[in-house]
Amino acid sequence: MDVTLETLLLYADADPDEPDLAPPIHQSTPFAAAGVAEFAKMNSDARHERYYRRYGNPSQARLETVLAAAEGAEACLATASGMGAASTIVLGLLASGDHVVAQRSMYGGTLSLLQHLAPRLGIEATLVDQTDTDAFARAARPGTTKLFLLESPSNPLLRVTDIAAVAALARGMGALACVDNTVATPVNQRPLDLGADLVMHSVTKALSGHADVLAGAIIGRRELIDRIWATHLVVGAVISPFDAWLALRGLRTLVMRVERQNRTADAVARFLAGHPAVRGVNYPGLPDHPQRELVKRQMTGHGGLLSVELGGGADAAERFIDTLQLPVRAPSLGGVRSLVVRPAAMWAHEMTADELAATGIAPGLVRLAVGLEPEQDLIADLEHALTAG
Ligand SMILES: *Cc1c(COP(=O)(O)O)cnc(C)c1O
Repeated sequence: MDVTLETLLLYADADPDEPDLAPPIHQSTPFAAAGVAEFAKMNSDARHERYYRRYGNPSQARLETVLAAAEGAEACLATASGMGAASTIVLGLLASGDHVVAQRSMYGGTLSLLQHLAPRLGIEATLVDQTDTDAFARAARPGTTKLFLLESPSNPLLRVTDIAAVAALARGMGALACVDNTVATPVNQRPLDLGADLVMHSVTKALSGHADVLAGAIIGRRELIDRIWATHLVVGAVISPFDAWLALRGLRTLVMRVERQNRTADAVARFLAGHPAVRGVNYPGLPDHPQRELVKRQMTGHGGLLSVELGGGADAAERFIDTLQLPVRAPSLGGVRSLVVRPAAMWAHEMTADELAATGIAPGLVRLAVGLEPEQDLIADLEHALTAG
C-alpha cells in the first residue's frame, strides 16, 4: 500500500498486540535483566531500548520510528534538542583537520556551533551564500570537506538552497549532505528524496507543535545513524521519555497544522508585501521571491515562517512588536500561537554584531512564526500595529 504522510504519522508505530491507543511513557532509567547472560547481551547491543536510558528507551524508539517514516528514511536518532542533533552530527562525523561547507544564513545556534565550538576542535567551516549554488563547489576542498550542512528555507531570512545540486556535489566528492528541515517540515519538503544523506530537525518546533517540548532528530540511512549513535552515547544529549511522548502526540496532527500554517502565512505575507509601511517581506511562497523557480522545484508548500523589514529600522520594529496583541513575543516557531521576535535582539548573545550583519540580519528585521489563528484575526492585528506605529 502506498501510504500517505498523514497515515504514516498515525500508524507507523502501531503495534497490533497493544490494546492502548495512547502509548505508555517509559520513564525508567535502567531496566532489569533476567540473568547475567541477558545483562551481557543488553550491555553490548547498540541502541538497546531497555538497558539504560542513555542508550535508548521504548518511548524514544517509538518517536524515532514515526520520524524516520515521515522523512522516508531507514533510521532516526531522537535527541534532547535541535542543537543536540546538530552538535552530535558535527562531533559524530568530523575530526580535527576536516572541513565543513555551510551557509551564511542559518539558525544562530548552528552558526555559533560552526564558528565558535568547531574551530576549537580543529574543524573548519566555510560559510557561503546559499542562493549561489556554485559557491558550494568553490568553497569545497577535495579530500578535506566531509560535510555540507544546509538549511532551507533558512531561519529567519527564508533563503533557499538547491538541495539536489549540493547533494550531488557532496556525493561526487565522497562527502555527506545534511539538511536542517525544521522550517519546511516533511509536509513541505523531503530532502532525502532530493539526494541528501541526512536530515536534522528541531522537533521543538512544528513537529511537536505545541510549545511544550525540547527535542531534536537526526534521520537517514541506518549505517550513518548507527555511526552517529556511537558519539551520541558519549555526548549524552538524550531526549526525555516525556518529551518523546509529547512529540509523538504532536506529530499525529502535523499535516493539518502545517497545511493551515502554509495557507495563513501565505495570506499574511501577501498582506504585508502590499502595505506601504513595509520595505520587504521574506517568504518562499511570494510570487516575487527571488528563487521562485527553485522553490517550485523542491517544495510542495511554503511553511509558517516569514520575516518582514519595516521602513524605520530597529525602533520601528520594536514599536510594531510591542503594539501587536495576538502574536506572542517569544522565540521558537511552528506552534499553535503565532510568535514574533526581532532576530537581531534574539541572537545578540550568541553572535557578534559583525556575525549578525554577515548573515544578512538587519536590525529592523521582524520574524513572524504563524500559528493556528484564523488569517483574518492576524491580519487585522498586523494592520493595526503597522498603522499605530
Ligand atoms: C530552533 C532551531 C534549531 C535549534 O533547535 P533547539 O530545539 O532549540 O535546540 C535548529 N535549527 C533551526 C532551523 C531552528 O529553528
